[in-house]
Amino acid sequence: MQNNDEHRHWHALSVQEVTRALESDEHGLTSEEAQARLAQYGPNRLPDAGRRGPLRRFLSQFNNVIIYLLMVAAVITGLLAHWLDTAVIAAVVIINTLIGFIQEGKAERALEAIRHMLSPQAVVLRDGHRRQIAATELVPGDIVLLQSGDKVPADLRLLRERDLRIEEAVLTGESEAVEKDVEAVAADAVVGDRLNMAFSSTLVVHGVGRGVVVGTGAETEIGRISAMLADIRTLQTPLTQQMARFGHYLSAFIVVFAALTFLFGWYARDYAPAEMFLIAVGLAVAAIPEGLPAIMTITLAIGVQRMAHRHAIIRRLPAVETLGSVTVICSDKTGTLTRNEMSVQCVALATRRYGVTGEGYTGVGAFVHAGAEIDPEQDADLMELLRAALLCNDARLDTHGSEVRLHGDPTEGALLSLALKGGYDRDEEHGRWPRVDAIPFESQHQFMATLHHDHEGHGVIYLKGAPEKVIAMCALQRTPEGEAPLDAAHWHSAVDDFASEGQRVLAIAYKRRAEHMTTVDFADVEDELVLLGLCGMMDPPRQEAVAAVRDCQSAGIRVKMITGDHALTASAIGARMNIGATGTALTGRDLEALDDQALEAKAQEHDVFARTSPEHKLRLVRALQARGEVVAMTGDGVNDAPALKRANIGIAMGIKGTEVTKEAAEMVLTDDNFASIAHAVEEGRTVYENIRKAILFILPTNGGQALVVLAAVLLGVVMPTTPAQILWVNMVTAVTLALALAFEPPESDIMRRPPRDPRAPLLSPYLIWRIGFVSVLLVAGTFSLFLWKEATAGLEAARAMAVNTLVMGQVFYLFSVRYVSAPSFTWEGLRGNRYVLYAVAATVALQLTFTYAPFMVTLFGIEPLPAEDWLLLIGFGVAVFVLVELEKAVVRGLRARAAPRGRRPARG
Ligand code: ADP
Ligand code: MG
Repeated sequence: MQNNDEHRHWHALSVQEVTRALESDEHGLTSEEAQARLAQYGPNRLPDAGRRGPLRRFLSQFNNVIIYLLMVAAVITGLLAHWLDTAVIAAVVIINTLIGFIQEGKAERALEAIRHMLSPQAVVLRDGHRRQIAATELVPGDIVLLQSGDKVPADLRLLRERDLRIEEAVLTGESEAVEKDVEAVAADAVVGDRLNMAFSSTLVVHGVGRGVVVGTGAETEIGRISAMLADIRTLQTPLTQQMARFGHYLSAFIVVFAALTFLFGWYARDYAPAEMFLIAVGLAVAAIPEGLPAIMTITLAIGVQRMAHRHAIIRRLPAVETLGSVTVICSDKTGTLTRNEMSVQCVALATRRYGVTGEGYTGVGAFVHAGAEIDPEQDADLMELLRAALLCNDARLDTHGSEVRLHGDPTEGALLSLALKGGYDRDEEHGRWPRVDAIPFESQHQFMATLHHDHEGHGVIYLKGAPEKVIAMCALQRTPEGEAPLDAAHWHSAVDDFASEGQRVLAIAYKRRAEHMTTVDFADVEDELVLLGLCGMMDPPRQEAVAAVRDCQSAGIRVKMITGDHALTASAIGARMNIGATGTALTGRDLEALDDQALEAKAQEHDVFARTSPEHKLRLVRALQARGEVVAMTGDGVNDAPALKRANIGIAMGIKGTEVTKEAAEMVLTDDNFASIAHAVEEGRTVYENIRKAILFILPTNGGQALVVLAAVLLGVVMPTTPAQILWVNMVTAVTLALALAFEPPESDIMRRPPRDPRAPLLSPYLIWRIGFVSVLLVAGTFSLFLWKEATAGLEAARAMAVNTLVMGQVFYLFSVRYVSAPSFTWEGLRGNRYVLYAVAATVALQLTFTYAPFMVTLFGIEPLPAEDWLLLIGFGVAVFVLVELEKAVVRGLRARAAPRGRRPARG
């Protein structure tokens, strides 16, 4: 059907030639044909360019200063014929890289799985019907429908278009959108000039169009250059990079320090050079936290997974950290804070008002006047309004048994349901008054208009939209006596009545004498319309969003509501959700009157922004950021993309959001629910805390071990631990105990603390103190028990004692470190998270093997310990736990005294 030479020149062929060559037509392919072609061409998936193979991933584990150091140490111990040390160091290198490899693989797979949760959809014609299918199922010859907000799912030759503009920056680097066309262009036109093509992965920013698929998967332009879009595949974040840098400096420092120790031991303490070298290696190995990078990666990955479970999909990994420092969340109202389940509750005509009963989209309900049901057919004006509501409407209601499903915008669903309550039948009415043309609704212009002709040659334009807009377009109003001059004041006061109860208000109007028209443009609806009436509809707040707003506020995060709705509607809903209790709503018009400077103050002061359009969002983000705020901003439409990109965390709606918006976002909500943002913030804070805890846990092991070695050198006594033994301890604590901290649940008060200052260092002075304190506890215990055991049972037993002391101290410290400063001596604290208990069990098993298994005993040159020594070891562990808990209590006391009365003390 297509050969390689030809398929690069689709743009030079006419529409007819292309469809013929692809054996397709305006009805699209049949399902069978599509199935057959899918088998032939394979799924429409881009080649995974960024993906590293397992071998490269394994080898990259060796690309690490610490591993280099260990390998050098292995070679030199080999040269010195210390085969046992060589073997153990080599084994540790391999085990460490294997663990890193497995954990990183797990993290990558977890992120990959989450990425696939965002797989794009495409609207195609199959068997003559519109179908929404997964974009991976597209085949050459499929007819794809495009509309603004879509990401083009494959390479298409355009067949039809209306005002279609596509942004092709991924392909051409040109960020200005290109105006598309369907005429053939020269065969040698470059990609950017092929105006009749829509290329895979480019973004539709305006208009609608349809095209036939000419290339899928690797056979697309983007597939050929195989430049994958930036996504979350990288496992790096500012935090891990900061830690990696810290690790490099630390390693360099440790190496220099170890070299100095070597010289000191050799000259001042008369150690033999070979022995002293081994000691220096042992010191370096003891001090360097080998396990830390893997723990950080896995903690991040677990955080991302947890967020996905709670309906927040992270698209860029650094967002996980940024979430923890968010200070302002700007949220859309409709559908995010509210349920987006609208129902019309009142209708206002020129001379009377009706209440409307019946919830949901069932179309069952009645019109009520003065407490009594009325027959709508008796009121011709009402019936005309209902017809307009039905015809100027793109929603569909499908009945599945007893359940009614809405396809389309809830605002329109509510109006459709209203018309059904008046006795209209949707299909019948559309058949009587076919639609000839339309101006679709956009937040920018806030109305929608449709042109209809009946079969007797009459024409009418129906229009609905925000009342201020619509009233301004009207000259007349519909009354029982016929068309009368418009009483604008009457209508505005009705709008205020409805809106101040939190209702969204739409005005509905018509224009007759449209028989000659075949298209409707903005100029046609500027004036001389006849106002039919108003509809007030209720969209109640989501209960869980109300709670989430409260959580955010107690977490020191301001919640701001941004909506296209009327100021009174927005304020009324805001008041119910405790947003904007302190100020009035600022409208888009107010906003436009302010310069950037003035806006900065207003943006901070006000919490409700009404009648805004998307460009206002961008200005708001800028203004808030200028005041040092860390801003999260939600959005769904194409025009929201710039504001989302600019925000510190752009949040796209997974259900009603466009692909363009998702592309611009750091995070996507799969349930469009504000509560999910609050959950993501909580998880983001938790990830950061858990990374701090892992560091707080791992570093004292290294500090303690290094001090043990140093103390021995300074005192000129025999080493309590050999390098091999030190590596063992590091491995055991990093892969079992520290890993458990990655699973630590959020602390109960995590949403009652202020946001983290993004400039604050990871290691606060308090954390450094704690690392030092615990290091000293560990060295004191290890050294004393070692010396005592050496004197009573010899070196081998003493070394077994030293290793077990270090590990036992860590086991008990693990329970303390689960809460950085809160007490752990509680039932919750002692019971631990499930993984803490698994980790402790694994550690005990490993230590028993180490101490008693004959091959381990030989390998590490130790002697098994008598049972009663475990009492001492456990006693030491308990002592560490109690001392750390005491330290926490003292510090909490000092802080409470230092902090002003009534304020929460700052965290460490
Ligand atoms: P929001 O940000 O709350 O979703 P929109 O920008 O969608 O607000 O809507 C702003 C106003 O436009 C609404 O208050 C309503 O009066 C009007 N409107 C909303 N949806 C439609 C629609 N489908 N057709 C006509 N007018 C609409
Ligand atoms: Mg809307």
